[in-house]
Amino acid sequence: MADKSFSAFQMAQTQFDQVAEKLNLDQPTRELLRMPMREYHFSIPVRMDDGSIRIFRGFRVQHNDARGPCKGGIRFHPQETIDTVRALSMWMTWKCAVVDIPLGGGKGGVICDPHDLSQREQEAICRGWVRQVARNVGPLSDVPAPDVMTNAQHMLWMLDEFETIHGGRFPGFITGKPVGMGGSLGRTEATGFGVIFTLREALRELGIKLENTVASVQGFGNVALYAARLYQQLGGKVICVASWDQTDQAAYSFRKASGVDVDALLGITDRFGGIDKNKARSLGYEVLPGEAWMVQDVDILIPAALENQITGENVGNIHSRVRVIVEGANGPTAPGADSVIRERGIYIIPDFLANAGGVTCSYFEQVQSNMNYYWEKDEVLSKLDTKMTSAFQAVHNLAKKNKLYMRDAAYIISIGRVAQACKDRGWV
Ligand code: GLU
Repeated sequence: MADKSFSAFQMAQTQFDQVAEKLNLDQPTRELLRMPMREYHFSIPVRMDDGSIRIFRGFRVQHNDARGPCKGGIRFHPQETIDTVRALSMWMTWKCAVVDIPLGGGKGGVICDPHDLSQREQEAICRGWVRQVARNVGPLSDVPAPDVMTNAQHMLWMLDEFETIHGGRFPGFITGKPVGMGGSLGRTEATGFGVIFTLREALRELGIKLENTVASVQGFGNVALYAARLYQQLGGKVICVASWDQTDQAAYSFRKASGVDVDALLGITDRFGGIDKNKARSLGYEVLPGEAWMVQDVDILIPAALENQITGENVGNIHSRVRVIVEGANGPTAPGADSVIRERGIYIIPDFLANAGGVTCSYFEQVQSNMNYYWEKDEVLSKLDTKMTSAFQAVHNLAKKNKLYMRDAAYIISIGRVAQACKDRGWV
């Protein structure tokens, strides 16, 4: 997000336009799907702990709800922009469609840096965000969830505000709630685990034994953490993780050739996934520049941080050994890098397929909330595995049959489903 010239929304539209062309989609459907249907921009006044008032900008974008209520997270980030939220809302539409859950795409955000905000100030932002859009979101229209730098506590504050405004209990309004307060077991792990379920299937298709592979991961937030953990439980070895250093305002990569100890690193990590580099050194990690995670001599790359990380400029630095890139983040690969990845024959598991585990489990959470009956963790994770595996197989088989790049195959399935829903409803 630091690159000012980069537009995530332009990237999302470019990807869409290319597939719309391939699908020979009619003009009104293209016009409808390349823009969000609705968006809300608003100000959130907050009384800070020192008594001053600060105004935060908030957004909610509803890209498409033809297949069901809009669904998608709310990000807290100092560099958040409406452009990024638009792109992410569009990717949510494709994400829900590729795993075939009855939800559309939405996304929200607030321009703020939670590193510098007390819990009370964050609570005020959450409640203020809901007050601004309380009439435009809800269990039957648009269901938020956590995303970058938001968590279960933020969701509960938002739910409480929504229920206060609407006078009732509406646990289906928001997902990623704390377990015991309407949350689902397995939701915290779901995105990272889903990434690894798709990776496991890809390696099976490629005839590569997961336990013989080595990976490098960008990020050490929720997605990266659970992806690294499950991958290592299945026998793989992570030798490098990268994380953001708030004090230096820079990213670093942490490498250990014998394998990263995820739990030891977690012990020296702040609540946003920032690893303390001095403590990491004393645990035997080499501290390398932020981009070093990408040039490692590994079989698998897992970008699980932010968008626009693998670009036309740096894609050439990827090691010749890399066989698979599995995108845990949303939009980590810019279109300029896709053609190179494709030419090099690297197998890519595109973001809106690879990281769909989070929203799939959110859907399970909604179902459980609405029934007021909660499943055991094993049941949740096994249903998640089934969904992710069948979505992966559908995309892989289409790519294989029609010799398509995996990203294009995933888009063809998703856009086809959403376009059909718009037609069925008589919109286009
Ligand atoms: N924020 C997550 C995503 O980008 C989860 C969204 C959700 O659960 O609604 O997929």
